[in-house]
Amino acid sequence: MAKVYKKFVVANWKMNPLDADSAVKLFSAIREQAVRARETLVVVAPPLLFLNTLTRLGNDKNISFGAQNCFWEEKGAYTGEISPTMIKGMSADYCIVGHSERRALGETNEMVNRKVRAALRNGLTVILCIGESERDAEGTYLEFLERELHEALASVTKKQLSQILIAYEPIWAIGGSAERSCAPRDVHEVVILIHKFLKDIFRVSAALEVPVLYGGSVAPENTEKLVREGRVNGLLVGGQSLIAANFCKIIEIVDSLVL
Ligand code: PEP
Repeated sequence: MAKVYKKFVVANWKMNPLDADSAVKLFSAIREQAVRARETLVVVAPPLLFLNTLTRLGNDKNISFGAQNCFWEEKGAYTGEISPTMIKGMSADYCIVGHSERRALGETNEMVNRKVRAALRNGLTVILCIGESERDAEGTYLEFLERELHEALASVTKKQLSQILIAYEPIWAIGGSAERSCAPRDVHEVVILIHKFLKDIFRVSAALEVPVLYGGSVAPENTEKLVREGRVNGLLVGGQSLIAANFCKIIEIVDSLVL
């Protein structure tokens, strides 16, 4: 039976590194750390170009692969797109959907929803990214997050809940050094709200079990506080996932924490 993980560390390599040799080198270093984890799953989401090469190196203990995006159709005349079926065919089990960098290129909640449903239909686990671009004192960003969740998860069934992870990634916190990240207490507040919103949508207690990750300027220095005080099930890491030593440290810290 497949191991059920309580903690996750996701590497979003974005459009890096530049060649397959560097991807293999980075992955090999990450794998060495990941196989030592006790209860943490490390999901590596490289550029699709490298996915086959990396999955062939082996789906080792505590390691899964993910895509950074997918299309909603299975096949056909959609130049430049990759379908969930193709992703699954490359031995990846996860797909990041709705990342803010894709939304900035024009992806709407409706498109995110179509991608979420297609990915789930094809047996992928979706890492659904939500996050506000700014926070206001009146708390309207919370309504924004609620709408993102509602619209992205429209027509998703209760049964599919076990294939969903939510990544809370405030856009203003992405892409900086550790000081830019969201305050752990504020992360915790959003985790509570995400579970409440999911419960409102799905009306089952399993909604409260959906893992919530945090992403945005995660580094070894802020990992412990973000996970412990933010009460998240793990982290989605961009920039620091390209620096093997730092990413390995993040895995080690997350794995050592008792949730
Ligand atoms: C991201 O873009 O998903 C992300 C979390 O990036 P970073 O860690 O660089 O802020």
